[in-house]
Amino acid sequence: MTKKIDFSKLAQAGVRDLKPYVPGKPVSELQRELGLEHIVKLASNENPLGPSKSVQAAVAGALAEQARYPDASGYELKDLLAKKHNVSPNQITLGNGSNDVLVFLAQVFLTPETNCVFSQYAFAVYPIATQSVGATAKIAAANSPEHAQPLGHDLDALAKLIDASTRLVFVANPNNPTGTWVDSGDLEKFIANVPDTCIVVVDEAYTEYVTTQDVPDTSRWLSKYPNLVVTKTFSKAYGLAGFRVGYALSHPDVADLLNRIRPPFNVNSLALLAAQTALGDTEYLEESVELNEQGRAYLESELSVMGLGVIPSATNFLLVDMKQDASSLNQSLLKAGVIVRPVGNYGLPNHLRISIGLPKENEFFIKALKKILNN
Ligand code: PMP
Repeated sequence: MTKKIDFSKLAQAGVRDLKPYVPGKPVSELQRELGLEHIVKLASNENPLGPSKSVQAAVAGALAEQARYPDASGYELKDLLAKKHNVSPNQITLGNGSNDVLVFLAQVFLTPETNCVFSQYAFAVYPIATQSVGATAKIAAANSPEHAQPLGHDLDALAKLIDASTRLVFVANPNNPTGTWVDSGDLEKFIANVPDTCIVVVDEAYTEYVTTQDVPDTSRWLSKYPNLVVTKTFSKAYGLAGFRVGYALSHPDVADLLNRIRPPFNVNSLALLAAQTALGDTEYLEESVELNEQGRAYLESELSVMGLGVIPSATNFLLVDMKQDASSLNQSLLKAGVIVRPVGNYGLPNHLRISIGLPKENEFFIKALKKILNN
């Protein structure tokens, strides 16, 4: 018999108690489990249009070159991003999704002696990245359910938690899973008051979807605030979640530190090409944003009429208070072929997070929900 080794004892303490990220259920998994023909996935805030035709054509045409390693520096993509954001290429760190750069930030700046500040209902990767390097998470209470931005970031509460040992503060704007946002004036005031010993990370995964709300593109503030880092992604409005491309914009010295630990080929060649092509396809982006606006308005209205608590959103998803325990509701939706996102792991057992889909997907979801709720 092989001897038994307790590997968890060998792991660092932070990792030992880590609860892994819970992703949206893949369509193929539900198909395997229930053998359903028609499944609608509104669970991972993906672009329901699929990648643009121009991206698909570019990637298909590059398959023959894939025996070569990617350009480790991502020269061409960085060049395009530098022009887009009016920064220098040495201010950019490319990631395998923006998740990658969030983890680099934790690896570079956090230690067991330091802490990281973020809000109660903020993106699930912030606590994981913090704990994985043994640092302390200091979690600020969120806005009350009655606030104009219910469950959203309370910047004053975040500011109060920052001390001399705080190296990172994460602000997702707009935020996941709430969909809420903080406006330009409040955010700039907050950033201006963060001490030089702390990096402010503004996670802008969803900013392309913002239309009418006052959400700043904080990359414009980089020259004013050297301790500001902005993270962005191609996974949402650009429709490239499966390719995995994201990036951080920062002071060149911060980018230099992040790039020291970045695995050399963390963004593959097809992903680099897909992102470069997507940047040139403004028509697709506009269509995606418009489709999202319409779908969000439809879902907001249908869900509100059903008496459910819809939280205002500037994103491609809605957080909804189902006014009952949402886990059994989620099970019923799965049986009806609809995958949404339960958020009990965020401490929100009565809420579901619903991504905006194509019109027919949104309608399928509403029909299924009405049937389940006898509405
Ligand atoms: N930030 C936020 C707020 C997110 O919601 C997500 C994805 N769910 C990410 C970052 C990471 O996305 P990706 O790694 O695909 O860029």
